[in-house]
Amino acid sequence: MIKELLVYIRPHKWVLVLGGVLGLIGSVAGLAMPLLAKYVVAAFGEHTSMAGPLIGLTAAVLLGAVVSAGGNYLMERTGEGVVLGARRKLVDRLLRLKVADVDRLKPGDLLSRVTGDTTLLRSVLTNGIVNAIGSVFMLVGAIVMMATMDGVLLLVTLLVVVVIGGLVGLIMPKIQRAQNDAQTAVGEMGAVLDRALQAYRTVKASGAEEREIEVVGEAAVRARDRGMQVAGWTSLAGVATWMAVQLAFLCVLAVGGSRVASGALEISGLIAFLLYLFYLVAPIGQLVEGAVQLQQGLAAVKRIKEIEDLPAEPVSTAAPQEPDPIGVRFDDVVFRYGDDRPIVHSGVSFEVPPGGLTALVGPSGAGKSTVFALLERFYEHQGGTITVGGRDIRDWPLGELRAALGYVEQDAPVLAGTLRENLLFAAQGASEEELRRAINRTRLDDLVGRLPEGLDTAVGHRGVLLSGGERQRVAIARALLRKPRLLLLDEATSQLDAVNELRLREVIAEVATETTVLVIAHRLSTVTNADRIVVMEGGGVRAVGTHAELVGEDELYRELAATQFLVS
Ligand code: ATP
Repeated sequence: MIKELLVYIRPHKWVLVLGGVLGLIGSVAGLAMPLLAKYVVAAFGEHTSMAGPLIGLTAAVLLGAVVSAGGNYLMERTGEGVVLGARRKLVDRLLRLKVADVDRLKPGDLLSRVTGDTTLLRSVLTNGIVNAIGSVFMLVGAIVMMATMDGVLLLVTLLVVVVIGGLVGLIMPKIQRAQNDAQTAVGEMGAVLDRALQAYRTVKASGAEEREIEVVGEAAVRARDRGMQVAGWTSLAGVATWMAVQLAFLCVLAVGGSRVASGALEISGLIAFLLYLFYLVAPIGQLVEGAVQLQQGLAAVKRIKEIEDLPAEPVSTAAPQEPDPIGVRFDDVVFRYGDDRPIVHSGVSFEVPPGGLTALVGPSGAGKSTVFALLERFYEHQGGTITVGGRDIRDWPLGELRAALGYVEQDAPVLAGTLRENLLFAAQGASEEELRRAINRTRLDDLVGRLPEGLDTAVGHRGVLLSGGERQRVAIARALLRKPRLLLLDEATSQLDAVNELRLREVIAEVATETTVLVIAHRLSTVTNADRIVVMEGGGVRAVGTHAELVGEDELYRELAATQFLVS
C-alpha cells in the first residue's frame, strides 16, 4: 500500500524536495535570528555602527519569512497536485469499467471515493511525510547529542522509547482499519442518500421522507461512530507517546541521580541530558502524528485501489465507418448475468439480414433487452456465438463495434445540459444540417420551436423539463445522428401518443431502408409491418416470421395480438 501511495507522489517528487529544502532554509534562518540579535546588542554596547548587524537581522527575518512561505506553498500545491492526479486516474477508470462491475457498485459510494477519499491523500503528503522526515532529523540530532553526554542514560531513554514505540506500532494498524471503516461508512451514507435522490418523486409520493431521512441519518451515525473509533485510537497513540517521554524522564532521573551520587556523572550533565530529553517531545509527537496520517492515507489508497483494480474495457478509437447496413446472427447463445443468477438466454438463435426492420416481441422478462446488452457487449455471453456484420462479436474492436451501433435504451435517458448537447452526445462532429434533419425526422421541430432558447435550452437534471415522449424522441434523434449501421430501439414507441407514434413508424420504416433496424416492442401495432418478427419466450426464440405468418402459426403471438385487438 505504501508503494501505491508513492505512485501518486512520484510525479511531484522534485517539487516536494524543493519545498522541503525551502522549509529547512526557513528554519535555519529562524535559528540564526537570536545570534544576529546578539550582534545588534553587542554593537549597541560597544558604540560601533549597528547598520551591519541590523541589515543582517532584517534580511534574515525577510528571507526566513519568504522562504518558509514559499516552501509551505509548494507543499500545499503538491498536495493539490497529488489529489488531482488521484482523481483523474480514478475517474478515468470509473468510466471505463465493465457494465457488469458497475451493476454491483453503488453510485453514491463511488462518488465519495472520488471526492472524499482522494482528499485524504493531501494531508498524508503535506503534514505526514514532510513532518516525519523533519522530525527524524531532529530526533537523530538530539540522540547524537545525548550519546556524547552519557551512554548509560541514553540506553535507558531508548529502552523506554522502544517499548512504548512498539505499543504505538501495534495501535497503527488499528487506526488504519478504523479509518477504512470510517471511509466506508461515509461511502454508505452517500449510497443511501443517492438512492433517495434518484427516486425523489417516489419518496415524496410514497410519503417516505421521514423514513429515508431516518435511514440516511442512521448511516451518518455509523460514520460518526467509526470516526470516533479513529479518534479513540489516535488519542491512545498520543497518550502512549506522552507517557513514553514522562517515563523516560523518571527513569533518567532515577538512574542519573544514582550516577551523580556515585560521581560517575556531573549534575550539570544530568540537567543538560534532561533538557535534551524534553527537546525530543516535539519530534516524537510529530512522528506519531505523521504515522497516524499515513494510516489515513493508506486507508484511502485501499478504497481507491479497489476501483482501480477492477478490469477496464479495452480502449480503441473507432475507425471511420462504412455506411452500409450490417446484419446480426445469434447462434445458440447462452447467457446469465452472474454465476449465481438464473439463465436468461438458454440457446437463443435467430438471424437478421442487413437492412430492413426486425422486431423482437415476447412476454416481459423473456430476455429481449438482454439481446441488445449483449450486442453492445455490455456483458459477455457464456456460450454460442454472436456475429455482427459477419464477424464474431469478440473479434470486433470494442470502440468500432459500438460506433457501428445506435442504441436507444428502454428509459431513454437524457443528460443534464442543453438539448443540443444531448443530441450531439453520440456524434460530436455532426453538422448543423445533419442535426436539423435528425430533429425533423424525429418530429422534434415543435419542441425546439417552443423552448425559450431553442436547441440551447437546458433540459434539467435527467431531462426533467421534457415529457416522457420527448425524452424518447431526443434519444432516438441522438442515436440517428451517430449514423448507425444497425439501430437498436428498445421499446422506442411505448411513450409516444398516437399521432407521433404513427409518424415514428414512418421514420423507422424510412431508416430501415438505409440501415438495419432491430426494435423491441410491446405494442405489436408498431411492428406489424416489420420484415420479420422474432418471438422470444423463456430464454429462447419461439418463432420467426411476418405478422401474417405468425398470426397463423404461433399461438403465443396470436394471443399477444388478440389482447391488443389486432386480430379477433
Ligand atoms: P421487458 O420486456 O420487461 O423489458 P425483457 O424481455 O427485455 O423484458 P430482459 O430485460 O432482457 O427482459 O431481462 C431478462 C431477465 O434478466 C429478467 O429476469 C431480469 O430480471 C434479468 N436482468 C436484466 N438485467 C439484469 C442485470 N443487469 N443484472 C441481473 N439480471 C438482469
